[in-house]
Amino acid sequence: MSERVRPVVAIDGPAGAGKSTVARRLAEELGFVLVDTGAMYRAVALVAIRQGVSLHEGAALGEVAAGLVREHALVFERGDGDTGVRVKLGNAPPREDVSDAIRTPEVALAASVVSAHPEVRAALLDLQRQAGADGGVVLEGRDIGTVVFPDAEAKIFLTASPQVRARRRFAEVQARGQTNDDGSAVTLEQLENEMQRRDSQDVGRAVAPLRQADGALVVDCTALAVDDIVAQLHAFVLSRSSR
Ligand code: C5P
Repeated sequence: MSERVRPVVAIDGPAGAGKSTVARRLAEELGFVLVDTGAMYRAVALVAIRQGVSLHEGAALGEVAAGLVREHALVFERGDGDTGVRVKLGNAPPREDVSDAIRTPEVALAASVVSAHPEVRAALLDLQRQAGADGGVVLEGRDIGTVVFPDAEAKIFLTASPQVRARRRFAEVQARGQTNDDGSAVTLEQLENEMQRRDSQDVGRAVAPLRQADGALVVDCTALAVDDIVAQLHAFVLSRSSR
C-alpha cells in the first residue's frame, strides 16, 4: 500500500481526447499539482531536433533526456492567468520558454518517435515518479496508470472519436495562430494524419504502449461538455480517495 495522504490521479488517453483541458481544470478544482508528461517527451524531441540528434538513435536520445533531468534544465512554471503551466529550458534563469515551440505538429510527431525508445522513457520515469510521490497530483500522459503509477488511487482513460480529436487540435492550433515550421498553414487533414500516425505509434510500441489501465474509469469525451467531464472525474477522484 502507498503511504500517500493525498491521491495520485492518472489520466491517460490518445492525442486530442481532451486530457490537457480536463486535467488542468481537475487539478485546479482539487488544488493538486498538474504534471504534463507529454510536454517532457516533446521537450526532449525539440532539443534532439535542435542538436541534430537522429530520432532513431535511442542511446543518444536517452542521453539528451538524461542530460535535461541531470542538469535540471527542464522546468515547469506556473503561467499568468489562463496560460496554464509554461515549459522552460535551461538550468538557470533566464530560461527559454518553449511552451509554443513544443506544440507544433512536427514536434508532436517527433515526440511520438522519441518516446518509443526505452532509454528515453527510463530517463524521464524517475522525474515523473518524483513529481507524484507525495500525492496531490494529476499526471496526464499515455502510460501513467499502467507504468508510472500503477498504484494510482484514481485512474482515468479519456477517449473521443478521431474526427472530434482532430477538430479540437485544429481549433487549438488556430487559436495559437500556429503555422508549420516552413510558415505554411496547418490544415485539418494534416492534423488528422498526424494524429493517426501518433496513435498507431503510441499504441503499437513495445515499451509502455498506450492502453487502458486495469481499473481505469473510461470516459468517451466525444459528445460531452468539459464541465460535465470534469464534474464526473472530480466525483470519481473523491470516491477513490475515501477508500
Ligand atoms: O500528450 P502529448 O500529445 O503532449 O504527448 C506527445 C507524445 O509524447 C505522445 O504522442 C506520446 O508518444 C508521448 N508520450 C508518451 N508517454 C506519456 C506522455 C506522452 O509516450 N506518458
